Amino acid sequence: MSIAYQQAGPRHAPAADVSLDMSEETSLIDLLQAREQGLGFRDAAALFSATVAQFQSVGHNLYGRMLLEPSDAEATVDDPVTGRRQRMIILASNNYLGLTGHAKVVAAAKRAASQWGTGSGSSPLLVGTFPVSCELEKKLAAHKGTEDCSIFSTGYSANIGVISAVATKSDVVILDRLAHASMVDGARLSGAQVKVFKHNNAAHLDRVLRRTAAAATKLVCVEGIYSMDGDIAPLDQIVEVCRHHGAILLVDEAHSTGVLGPDGKGAAAYFGIEGQIDLHVGTLSKALGACGGFVAGSHDMITYLRYFARSGMFSTAPSPMVLAAASAALDVMVEEPERRERLWENCRFMHEELERMGFQVSGAPSPIIPVIVGTMHGLRQMTLALHRRGICINAVPFPAVPHGSERLRISLTANHTRDQIQTALDEIKKAGRAAGVI
Ligand code: PMP
Repeated sequence: MSIAYQQAGPRHAPAADVSLDMSEETSLIDLLQAREQGLGFRDAAALFSATVAQFQSVGHNLYGRMLLEPSDAEATVDDPVTGRRQRMIILASNNYLGLTGHAKVVAAAKRAASQWGTGSGSSPLLVGTFPVSCELEKKLAAHKGTEDCSIFSTGYSANIGVISAVATKSDVVILDRLAHASMVDGARLSGAQVKVFKHNNAAHLDRVLRRTAAAATKLVCVEGIYSMDGDIAPLDQIVEVCRHHGAILLVDEAHSTGVLGPDGKGAAAYFGIEGQIDLHVGTLSKALGACGGFVAGSHDMITYLRYFARSGMFSTAPSPMVLAAASAALDVMVEEPERRERLWENCRFMHEELERMGFQVSGAPSPIIPVIVGTMHGLRQMTLALHRRGICINAVPFPAVPHGSERLRISLTANHTRDQIQTALDEIKKAGRAAGVI
């Protein structure tokens, strides 16, 4: 048997006895399954790289569009389709409050670079900690209403380090079905038994927890705002269920920090249940406009995690200049509440207009608005049409979401003007009609 390959020949003949039919509907899962059946890395890499080149040649690979300016509502982009520069409306960035280029944030980063240099040079527990690291940890703990906080290099590394430290082989990790990849990876790394409950369904979580009574530690992991659907977890109900079963609750606030609750304090503050979440994991890379991750919780838990979360312990601490940027952004987030108000006005307007046009969107407005397209082909067609008209929106294909719910994922920021949103809406309508979605 050989690899049947319809679009371009692989550079290396496959050694394995495996068949893989690469077509427009083929996804990364097919390649991963072929690998599990014995397709070697060399052959898989050749096959995949030829497929990427093929998609690129017909303009269907829009990954890695390069920004030539700060990530903002509009930016000049190096167009991978035409090779030219293109001015685009960016509806694809998590810079929710528009702080990546804010004068105070940029100035803080510059000052920190002059004072402490560009790199931290060491892991946090050795000599990678600077005054700005402690200042930011204190501010984040206060923001989340917890006793302490510990910083990581990214939100991804915070989740994998924290979850694999909290749970051990004799424990159970229970994930919402739509939990982010970093939580799934952390759960796998922990060696604990992994269970899943129905998305945002506290009653089902209760049933799953009833069947895991024997485990010493039961860790429940949810998101404040879900990254692919933009919906909010019913934390008030989930907290009750976790308390009833003595489970530890970890809330990933990557998309809710700066966005939900008074002063952007996040999902717990939004529900008025501050102090009832065991662990808040978050990122500095979205509303805070920088890069890095954190976990906030009780003094005991954070002390333990500083020593046992391996992605923090064995990794260089984030750069002091990036932490200074995040620290300044946290101040701006509180000082300029009008940013959050503008963000939500934009969300409501966009969501309402898309619904009125007949698109299937999420149930309620949020800075993440999924627009369901339903097929890989339609998704590619719409994304490319929008790209050509200067609208940059991320496509979310299978396997990131289930087949039939392939979608455009619109991300809004406080800096988008009504004109920019209207222009984008007009183009989305045209592209949706051309693809037969509406
Ligand atoms: N959690 C969620 C829900 C996310 O969406 C992301 C980033 N997409 C992360 C964690 C990881 O954060 P970071 O980008 O800082 O690694």
